[in-house]
Amino acid sequence: MSELHKFLFDGLPVRGMVVRLTDAWQEILQRRAANSSTGAYPPPVRELLGQMVAAGALMQANIKFNGALILQIYGDGPVKLAVAEIQPDLSLRATATVMGEVADTHRLSDMVNVSNQGRCAITLDPKDKFPGQQPYQGVVPLFGDQREKLDKLSDVLQHYMLQSEQLDTTLVLAANDQVAAGLLIQRLPSEGENNLQTNEDGIGKSEDYNRLSILASSLTQDELLSLDVDTILHRLFWEEKVLRFVPAKDSSGPRFACTCSRERVTRMIRSLGQEEANSIVAERGEIEVGCDFCGQQYRFDPVDAAQIFTAPDAQPPGTRVVQ
Ligand SMILES: [Zn+2]
Repeated sequence: MSELHKFLFDGLPVRGMVVRLTDAWQEILQRRAANSSTGAYPPPVRELLGQMVAAGALMQANIKFNGALILQIYGDGPVKLAVAEIQPDLSLRATATVMGEVADTHRLSDMVNVSNQGRCAITLDPKDKFPGQQPYQGVVPLFGDQREKLDKLSDVLQHYMLQSEQLDTTLVLAANDQVAAGLLIQRLPSEGENNLQTNEDGIGKSEDYNRLSILASSLTQDELLSLDVDTILHRLFWEEKVLRFVPAKDSSGPRFACTCSRERVTRMIRSLGQEEANSIVAERGEIEVGCDFCGQQYRFDPVDAAQIFTAPDAQPPGTRVVQ
C-alpha cells in the first residue's frame, strides 16, 4: 500500500516527509510493460522515473496549491523526456520517452545529460485558471555550480528548492521494481522573526537543521526501499522529538490515476485540423491514439473521425474503447 507521512520536530523549525509508493508505482511499471509498442523500461530509466514520482509526491504534499505538480526532465541522451505528474489529492502518473539504448550501467548523466544540455522543469498548473493564465514553471540545469554533471536527481532537486523557495532541503530518493520512495527534510521559513534577533536565532536554527539533515542523509537507498516508515524514522531520529501526523494512505493516499479521456483525445484531433485527420484516416483506415501514461488506446474509425469535425460541440464520437 502506498503511503505518505508528514512529521515535525518538536520546537524546531524543521519539517519532514516520507513517501513510500508500492501498488501505485507497480501499476505504472506494469502498464508500461504491457504496452506492446514500448515494452518495459530499462532498469536505469525505471530507477530515474521512480525517483521522480517519489520526489513529485513529496513536493506536491509540501505545498498548498490546487493544481498538478509536473516534474519533467528534458534529456539530451537516449531518454528524451521523463514526466511525473502529481495531483493535489496525490493521484499520480508518469511516463518516459526512450529513443536509444540504455545500458544497465547508465547513470543519470548518461541517460539525460550527455552534452550537459539536459534540463529539469517543475511546473505548477493551477486547476482553476483564469483566461490566459499560464502555469508557473521553474527550470534548473542538470549540473552543479562548477558545471559538473550531477548524477543524483536529489542533488538537482535540492538545488531547485533552494533557488525557488529559498529553503534548505535534504532529499533521499530511491526506486526499484517494487518500491519508489523518498525522504524530505526542510528548514521551515521563520515567521514573524524579530530582525534584531535574527542573527542569534538564525544560527541556532541552522544548527538544528544541519544536524537533522546529516541524520537524514545517512539513510541509504537500500534502507529507504526495504524498511517501513516507522523503522526509518526511529532509526534516524530516535534522539529527537518527532511529532507525526496521520499518514495519507488508502483512498486519501498516493495512487495511480490517469487523467486521459476520449474527450481530450477528440479535442487534440480537432486541433490537428480536418485535412490532417482525413489524411491519417486515408492512410491507416482509422485514427488511433495511445496514452503514454496509462497505455489506453483510443480509436476513431472514419465515421467517428468525420463526426469530430461535423459536430464540434457534441459528445466525443464513438464509445468503443480498446483496452
Ligand atoms: Zn491515460
